[in-house]
Amino acid sequence: MYKVFINPSLYFHYTLQTLNELTGSGRRSGTMMWGGGEFEFHDVLPTYYELYNSSKSWYERIDRTLEWLLDEEKPVNLLHIYFEQPDSAGHYYGIHAPEFNEQLKHIDNIFDYFLKQLAKHGLENKIDIIVLSDHGMLDIDQAHLINVTEDIKSTGGKYCGTSPILQVTTNASESLS
Ligand SMILES: [Zn+2]
Repeated sequence: MYKVFINPSLYFHYTLQTLNELTGSGRRSGTMMWGGGEFEFHDVLPTYYELYNSSKSWYERIDRTLEWLLDEEKPVNLLHIYFEQPDSAGHYYGIHAPEFNEQLKHIDNIFDYFLKQLAKHGLENKIDIIVLSDHGMLDIDQAHLINVTEDIKSTGGKYCGTSPILQVTTNASESLS
């Protein structure tokens, strides 16, 4: 478990899992390797959470979350389940690569497994499922690549991050072109 170290007077964030827990009335959250799921917001943690562990199979992840859902004393009404694919394959190989398609098949199979497990317990019509992605992907022609980090460095600016979101600090005496 981690606490979020933000000045409380500036801190207005709630996560969905936190809001669900704070709503009361027996609402409980479970986060399976979900980004930030192990963080305490407003002194509240999800009832169940597991840290990211790539060695845990996707089937095991589903089985564990089913246990949270079916718990007789503390069942969850909100589940977040994270799968690292096809994101990783897309970043590494590109979206037209066979490796990417393999991961799509893998996630399709695990989704099918999840649905079958829900049906096995008579939950298939009692659960709303939302499938999310944190971003889309597009293969980029290297000839049209704009190397933003090189532009930043050339002006003496600094950057932080490697994702599509980049924090940039510019040199006050220079300007980016
Ligand atoms: Zn990604």
